[in-house]
Amino acid sequence: MSILPIVTYNDPVLREKTKPVEDLNEEIQDFVEDMFETMYNSDGVGLAAPQVGVSKRIFVIDSDGMLEEEDEKPGPIAFINPVIVEKKGKMIPLDEGCLSIPEVTDKVIRPEVVVVKFLDENFEERVEEFSGWTARVIQHEYDHLEGILFIDYLSAFRKRMHKADLEEIDTGKRETRYPIKPRG
Ligand SMILES: [Zn+2]
Repeated sequence: MSILPIVTYNDPVLREKTKPVEDLNEEIQDFVEDMFETMYNSDGVGLAAPQVGVSKRIFVIDSDGMLEEEDEKPGPIAFINPVIVEKKGKMIPLDEGCLSIPEVTDKVIRPEVVVVKFLDENFEERVEEFSGWTARVIQHEYDHLEGILFIDYLSAFRKRMHKADLEEIDTGKRETRYPIKPRG
């Protein structure tokens, strides 16, 4: 297993629409393990393949640390070739951050519940409903597979508020607790 460097928000790979995984082989399983290790190393709750420079439809999550004691804990899950088949519930604002945009957080409004069809780390097909923080992490990571970042949802005013931060990240001056790979 290895910890992979995380690319930052202006890297073109984060803007690509990712390709489905076609060969379900050991190489993919090794990559998924590396993604989990990279996510835990950076104290993240989700990580998508483009964030480590791989334009494939894969993300991993572990939202357990964000959940209340009484909540059901889904644990670590890999999503390979995921499809969000349904979004429902109330539209709710929650604070999001992103390992590719270190230390920038802001409110994003998204539906409370999602139903996702995906292959897990054992290549088993699953269709499951997720809610609360878990649904939030899934929608954020799913966006990465479409080349969308959470800052895209912010108003021009909110984006201006983050301008200095984004410039610092862009120029490779931001210090992080985990390895990053600034653009070029
Ligand atoms: Zn992200």
